Amino acid sequence: MDFSIPESLREIRQAVREFVEQKVFPLEQVIEEEDRIPEELLAGARELGLFGLGIPAAYGGLGLDMVGKCLVIEELGRGHAGFAAVLGAHTGIGSAALVMAGSEKLKQKYLPAMAAGEKIAAFALTEPGAGSDASALKTTAVKKGDRWIINGVKHFITNAPEAALITTMAVTDPAKGARGITAFVVERDFPGLKVGPADEKMGLRGCHTAKIFFEQCEVPAENVLGRENEGYLTALKTLASGRAALAMRCVGACKRLIDLSLRHARERVQFGKPIIENQGIQWMLADMVMETEAARTLALQTAWKVDQGMDVVMDAAMTKLLATENYCRVADRALQIFGGMGFMKGLPIERIYRDARITRIYEGTSEVQRMLIASQLIKKGYG
Ligand SMILES: Cc1cc2nc3c(=O)[nH]c(=O)nc-3n(C[C@H](O)[C@H](O)[C@H](O)COP(=O)(O)OP(=O)(O)OC[C@H]3O[C@@H](n4cnc5c(N)ncnc54)[C@H](O)[C@@H]3O)c2cc1C
Repeated sequence: MDFSIPESLREIRQAVREFVEQKVFPLEQVIEEEDRIPEELLAGARELGLFGLGIPAAYGGLGLDMVGKCLVIEELGRGHAGFAAVLGAHTGIGSAALVMAGSEKLKQKYLPAMAAGEKIAAFALTEPGAGSDASALKTTAVKKGDRWIINGVKHFITNAPEAALITTMAVTDPAKGARGITAFVVERDFPGLKVGPADEKMGLRGCHTAKIFFEQCEVPAENVLGRENEGYLTALKTLASGRAALAMRCVGACKRLIDLSLRHARERVQFGKPIIENQGIQWMLADMVMETEAARTLALQTAWKVDQGMDVVMDAAMTKLLATENYCRVADRALQIFGGMGFMKGLPIERIYRDARITRIYEGTSEVQRMLIASQLIKKGYG
């Protein structure tokens, strides 16, 4: 593996860094207060091609491989987590299944508008009764002539209020359990689909989740993604391949927290000297940097394995677990270094502390990642 930043990515990384510092940072408070992403940020993201990070160039995307995508997303992660989550869900779980398993016709029909950021993508797996156990889906799809009729409810779906295209998993052969689930691309305007109001959440302002109701929703037969009854596998592959990118969003946020903490520790004077001169503070900073670097290295190694077509179930689970748990630890230590100021609204620390928490839950909880790591270990051994 080569750990240097490829020449081809330097320009886009620098452009995203400048976009985040010059455009996103000044609008973070607006996102918090108004719970929406300002149009100028969406326009800026479109201009940089960020909606099409992983979409092949043939369909209008940037066509980055997973390592490239991760290195760009790391920069985005330094900015507002809600904005990064909107783009993360769109470029990750929202569009990956279509890129991976869609027919040529579906790709040509939908990917260009996704890449241009004209149609926002979402991924609907979770249901009120099927969270960690995603194979317990109750949403059904029944074939009727040249259509599928979908009935059921999905919840907590990121981007649902804005999404035009929703990768949806539904049971097509109830007798077969997880092997009887099929993935579909569902257009928001298909008859029988309704989106509920946006959920009230602890964080990730500007990034909305909602319920999706399918009531006799009609989907053309050609909108099946991949093969019938292989949708659960497609969902698992989509989630696994995206975990390195999610981890790099966390790494980007940690880098910002470390920057802010370092600056504050140098400036804040107590007992007649800057607090950074205390070993207690230095050791917190040392752990923050060390563990973030470990998460970054593992994420890039996993991304590299994705690009080689290798099996990454265990790597991806370890990456997600390490990066998200480290993110929460780094946010906690940053708040400690800021003292009472860290607890106050208006500074990024309080917000990032809240935003960090969801990463240990969505796209598979920490417990689910440990289950995946252990099951792979038991099956394949180690070393
Ligand atoms: C903000 C947000 C955005 C989301 N976006 C999406 C999205 O875009 N698309 C989508 O499909 N879903 C989405 N989700 C859903 C998310 O993936 C689920 O919330 C998550 O998988 C956990 O499911 P659950 O909430 O039902 O928790 P549960 O499955 O009820 O788990 C509750 C607790 O029990 C633990 N647990 C469960 N089973 C075991 C076990 N066998 N061993 C040990 N512990 C266990 C879990 O780890 C957790 O700690 C989102 C959720 C949120 C909050």
